[in-house]
Amino acid sequence: MLRTHTCGELRLAHVNQTVTLAGWVQRTRDKGSLLWIDLRDRYGITQLFLEEGKSDPQLIAAARSLGREYVIRVTGKVSERISKNDKLATGEIEVKVEQLTVLNAAKTPPFTIEDETDGGDDLRMKYRYLDLRRTPVRESLQLRHKMAQQTRAYLDSLNFIEVETPVLIKSTPEGARDFVVPSRIHHGEFYALPQSPQTFKQLLMVSGFDRYYQIVKCFRDEDLRADRQPEFTQIDCEMAFITQEDVLSTFEGLIRHLFKSVKGIDLTSVPRMSYADAMTHYGSDKPDTRFDMKFVELNTVAKGKGFGVFDNAELVVGICASGCAEYTRKQLDELTEFVKRPQVGAKGLVYVQYKSDGTFKSSVDKFYGPDDLKQWADALHAKPGDLILILSGEKNATRKQLSELRLLMGERLGLRDKTKFSALWVLDFPLLEWSEETNRWHAMHHPFTSPKPEDMALLDSDPGAVRANAYDMVLNGTEIGGGSIRIHDRATQQLMFSKLGFSDEEARKQFGFLMDAFEFGAPPHGGIAFGFDRLCSLFGGAESIRDFIAFPKNNAGRDVMIDTPSTISEEQLKELGIQVRD
Ligand code: ASP
Repeated sequence: MLRTHTCGELRLAHVNQTVTLAGWVQRTRDKGSLLWIDLRDRYGITQLFLEEGKSDPQLIAAARSLGREYVIRVTGKVSERISKNDKLATGEIEVKVEQLTVLNAAKTPPFTIEDETDGGDDLRMKYRYLDLRRTPVRESLQLRHKMAQQTRAYLDSLNFIEVETPVLIKSTPEGARDFVVPSRIHHGEFYALPQSPQTFKQLLMVSGFDRYYQIVKCFRDEDLRADRQPEFTQIDCEMAFITQEDVLSTFEGLIRHLFKSVKGIDLTSVPRMSYADAMTHYGSDKPDTRFDMKFVELNTVAKGKGFGVFDNAELVVGICASGCAEYTRKQLDELTEFVKRPQVGAKGLVYVQYKSDGTFKSSVDKFYGPDDLKQWADALHAKPGDLILILSGEKNATRKQLSELRLLMGERLGLRDKTKFSALWVLDFPLLEWSEETNRWHAMHHPFTSPKPEDMALLDSDPGAVRANAYDMVLNGTEIGGGSIRIHDRATQQLMFSKLGFSDEEARKQFGFLMDAFEFGAPPHGGIAFGFDRLCSLFGGAESIRDFIAFPKNNAGRDVMIDTPSTISEEQLKELGIQVRD
């Protein structure tokens, strides 16, 4: 070994020992008579020093010529520091350099490799291998490693088996767009990269594997959106001979195990809410339950007073922002601007300031007197000092808009603390959703999800009202996992495909293998998949998932380090039987 210790290891107990360390020069500080070097490796930073008059002059000269990020090896004696640094694990000691070897020189890095860096996103991604030397990024990946280890430990302890499923599969029309891979041997034919191992894990249940999991890469060629990666990782799971209740308790157990083992947090049990309630009370199927601020419908108290906007609205709905009654005109205008942004889409905002002296001031004073406003305040459980914010219009759109405003107010009131965690199961999702774009019903989760038996009768008369045995786990307002109890008989699966507009032949061509399998003894089964990158970033208290992926793509879907996607040679194209037209 080139070293006796790591750069994170030495303590007072090592004083007077001669040690050898190796690592990268993070910084040198030259005070003339004294020269310090911060030596870094994966484990930490150790301070080295040389002293004019006491250290060998050649050694001092060699130390002075070190640049940032040089890779060096030093041998020296550990001594107690006079001025200690309690921010550093090794801050009580330093190493007096007696030998120094440069293992490799380094060009000046394009950004500073310290906790806080001056490098912008693009530069950091282009030189990701340097960015990964920075402690916060390295720690994010260490957290990811720990999460993966603990996931495996938990699932293994419950008899789950990790099985690998293929990466070159078949393109299917449902869900997002597939990434496709041309076949060289079969010109004109293509593999697709899996959006998830869904059908394979179901087939493993037919095979009798009973409990499967895989920490697996999935690929979706979706439109670019900030912080969405074309390839991402799922904790993918499936179980046979279970009810929905079994899946919920098993995976609530996984999340609690992860919180306990990785963060030392005892997560209280995960509450449950129906999709319908989530939409009514929070306007979202992934409500942030770190704070309350529930929606209150005001139709009965707000309509019929001559205010046309409310009178003509399907829904009048409000929230109460505690302690915000004294918002200035400017602040209120900002909120109005916020809800009117195209991304939110409201036409306007009605506010009521419930002043601390018990009086009201509202943007609709012309139509409503203090008695009316008091009724609204009572409905919303508002107290003097609170601000009531109201939106109105078509039911679903208005709820979505108010959900955005609720999140903004939660943020402003400091109620979305990244170190606090609130998990939630959202249950009973609709089976189908109507797409204006394609003019047909789409599976809200996926076509293998089973309808609730008691809703089957509605499949013809009111397809939108059919609920599915489908569930999501939400953490701090982010969907971290979703799954369902599956269809496991051919007839229901066939019916489902026909409801989704597949002809019998199309269904057979795309998913015949699965329906065939259902005729050879398919057990009842169900499962779930968690978005692993996002789960890691939430555990790490970060906004972006990128630092939890070693080599991520940027927001334009490019890897700027290896520079891809990229063109391929004429020869390769020819081999693949692909003609490029421009
Ligand atoms: N395959 C599903 C997904 O990727 C998860 C599941 O139903 O288990 O969302």
